[in-house]
Amino acid sequence: MRLLLLFSFLPLAAADFSGQKALEYTQALVNFGPRPSGTPAIVKTQAYIVEQLKANGWQVSDDAFSAKTPAGTLQMKNIIARKPGLSGRAVAITGHYDTKRFPFPFVGANDGGSSAGLLLELSRSLKDRSFKNDVYLVFFDGEEAVKDWTVTDSLYGSRHLADKWQAAGITDRLTALINVDMIGDRDLKIVNELYSSEPLRRVITQAAASLGYARHFNASDLPIEDDHVPFLRKGVRSADLIDFEYGPNHAWWHTPQDTMDKLSPASFEVVGRTLAEVLKRLDP
Ligand SMILES: [Zn+2]
Repeated sequence: MRLLLLFSFLPLAAADFSGQKALEYTQALVNFGPRPSGTPAIVKTQAYIVEQLKANGWQVSDDAFSAKTPAGTLQMKNIIARKPGLSGRAVAITGHYDTKRFPFPFVGANDGGSSAGLLLELSRSLKDRSFKNDVYLVFFDGEEAVKDWTVTDSLYGSRHLADKWQAAGITDRLTALINVDMIGDRDLKIVNELYSSEPLRRVITQAAASLGYARHFNASDLPIEDDHVPFLRKGVRSADLIDFEYGPNHAWWHTPQDTMDKLSPASFEVVGRTLAEVLKRLDP
């Protein structure tokens, strides 16, 4: 009786981020096949992402736009999930869900798949958690160059949303934006990305260390242009978590070898649980 009473007063444990579930979300995305911007496959992917986010109880909106690319005008769409808080401030976890267009079959399990799979599992594992900050989960379209990477042929979605959020005053409320990319690699070595905000990198490093994950972080120092850069340009404290050593000599990156068998649930779990801890630490 007494025991039962005690148990009834224990707070409900928040759902832990599951690496296995993140892997399953990623598999569901990969099942749509190659998912370049402006294709029927990415439209199906968008519907799936929206459906999952709504099922997990998040407010969902989209940021649709036409992008001028070397392949002509393409329709693109960022998907934005929001969990409102009361602090008046906001934090965002972001990642891209498009895959690069190639003449060969490219399903982008890690590059485009893992980032979106991780965000979906965050939406599930955080659904019953409350934060004082608004928490945004943003799925970017058009991260990949349609042809070759240049300032105008890359980061279509993040450049569009950074402009839009600046105009709406949201960048002023945003205390941190953390982007993830290629974090499913079973041999997880996240770089110390040099454009990223130094104080935010410190928060992430400390959160990872507190969970015993230090060995997976700061493997090398490397500047990488990714979806965090347009927000850095707006003065938003931003960071990028990316593993840029995918396979022997990076041989699986942007090749048909970027498939599900290269990923591991443990890697998703390292990044997902670190981010959950960072969200807690950033809350006022
Ligand atoms: Zn890529």
